[in-house]
Amino acid sequence: MLITYLRSSSLSNYDFCEQQYYLNYTLGYERSAGIKAEKGSILHKVMECLALLKLDFQSHDNPQLEIEEVACGKLSIPRESLMSISVAEGILNKVFEYYSGKSIYGYTKKDFKDIAGWMYTVLSYGKGVFDPRNRKVQDVEKRFDITVDKAWAKYIYDGVEGQLAIKGTIDFITKIDNNTIEIIDWKTGKRYDWAAGEEKTYEKLCKDQQLMLYYWAAKKLYPEVENIIVTIYFIADGGPFTIAFDAEHIKKTEENLQKAFVRIRNNNMPKMVSYTQSSFKCTKLCDYFKNAHPDSKDGTNTCKFIHNELKRIGMEATTKKYSVKGHNVSNYQCPGE
Ligand code: SF4
Repeated sequence: MLITYLRSSSLSNYDFCEQQYYLNYTLGYERSAGIKAEKGSILHKVMECLALLKLDFQSHDNPQLEIEEVACGKLSIPRESLMSISVAEGILNKVFEYYSGKSIYGYTKKDFKDIAGWMYTVLSYGKGVFDPRNRKVQDVEKRFDITVDKAWAKYIYDGVEGQLAIKGTIDFITKIDNNTIEIIDWKTGKRYDWAAGEEKTYEKLCKDQQLMLYYWAAKKLYPEVENIIVTIYFIADGGPFTIAFDAEHIKKTEENLQKAFVRIRNNNMPKMVSYTQSSFKCTKLCDYFKNAHPDSKDGTNTCKFIHNELKRIGMEATTKKYSVKGHNVSNYQCPGE
């Protein structure tokens, strides 16, 4: 398969289903985010706006704090109101209105209550220790795009050479002291590994490839910082889990990246999670099961149609023939981003 970059979501997507990875990342097909993911995006945006307000508070002494963000619009509040719960509630109302207004799903009062519940949980946990306004903000929604400068990370496709890149976004980075930062990743879903079919325990999170990847990226982004702590906060399923990685994890992450890169690059016939498509992962969780491929004459679903084409004409021809027009294999936007 063509592969020019990896991100934590692409790695977990490949583990979930190789065929779904191929459809998403190589061919560039679009999946809908699903209302659960959209609700998660709303919570993320609320936390982001609160952190941006705090960042503004940190940056000057002006009596008004001001931010401008597409989902919550232009916001101006008196400096002394920063910690008021009504500020958080006002942001939630605006962000909810923005997302639900452009969604294909019909949002209910219960959906709003769910998100508000998540917000109150975060803001009140441990007397507000995870409230972004109680933190010293280092960065918010920090995007990274880091080239892997190793011989194994080189690729050549159609005569074009490049180096594998690692991409992603870290939700929230806070400064603990001059030598220590904490990365916080908000999660509104279940604390569950869908690929492996098991709960993510603390022991498993200590080897979690997404968290190790964030640690690896943060080490590159902030080389001057000695200690980087990683917290994944399962808001609706278990609360915060904090992990301290070290130099061994950098080595392990690079080994994992190399293995994943080689495995994906050498894969010319992606496996389907279920060849009969009888798994709940197909029937309940996958758009490519539900939707027919537009070129199919008999309504064959997208997954099966492309699988049949891979068998008939091979990967190179399938990729050329069925890639979405304008899709660049070096770019991918996650649903909900
Ligand atoms: S329908 Fe099943 S096998 Fe096909 S892409 Fe979706 S999850 Fe994978």
